[in-house]
Amino acid sequence: MSARTVIAGNWKMNMTPSEAKQFIGELAPMVAGKNACDIVLCVPYVDIPTAVEAARGTNIHIGAENVHFEAKGAFTGEVSTAMLCELGCEYVIIGHSERRQYFGETDTTVNLRTKAALAAGLKVILCLGEVKEQRLAGITDEVVAMQTKLDLADIDEDALKNVIIAYEPVWAIGTGLTATPEQADETCGVIRKTVAEIYSKKAADAMTIQYGGSMNDKNAAELLAKKNVNGGLIGGASLVPEKFTAIVDAANA
Ligand code: PEP
Repeated sequence: MSARTVIAGNWKMNMTPSEAKQFIGELAPMVAGKNACDIVLCVPYVDIPTAVEAARGTNIHIGAENVHFEAKGAFTGEVSTAMLCELGCEYVIIGHSERRQYFGETDTTVNLRTKAALAAGLKVILCLGEVKEQRLAGITDEVVAMQTKLDLADIDEDALKNVIIAYEPVWAIGTGLTATPEQADETCGVIRKTVAEIYSKKAADAMTIQYGGSMNDKNAAELLAKKNVNGGLIGGASLVPEKFTAIVDAANA
């Protein structure tokens, strides 16, 4: 089985509910019928009800940007898997580098969140990638292999069908710097090889591995043409309907 291409937007802390409604209303006709890839928008928690409603009957799926691993309790500011599911949310980003960098997320908490999300039936977009110093030190392969192993610890092969890995070199996120298509292909390949070692070649071949890091309307085609790159996780360019549509078009070419 070959991996499905998934083009996902990460809105981060952008767009109010009314802006989300307007955006999806504009985007939906632009991406209608472009079904060679799955299309996902991961939005701030407060936008989810509006986004789910606006995307109803379209080929756009809605996701969240994080989720807590406990079912309920004294975790002020956090949101549970049941809360997301009840709203009709299908996907969730876990382990984004901004969560790791600014909010103390570690591979241990990423693993706990991933297990909780999978148990609730959510599809996980699991983010990992090296920082600039690690790439310059020549240890990118070791770093992404270790993250893959830790983040997927104790997760059954069967559950992997609901896991997408987003390879996001931290130095390329929101910086305008993009990994070359060759770098993206090579490192996504290392992640795939690691999944094959932990699980099986079958699981590795079926896994969607996205590239993320300043992907845009100009560079998407080249990145998506690479064998090991099965889609993109897109920040800045997912806030502009024309740019996001161009990336969806590149995945449908
Ligand atoms: C991201 O937020 O995951 C991302 C890749 O952002 P950008 O496309 O803006 O670099």
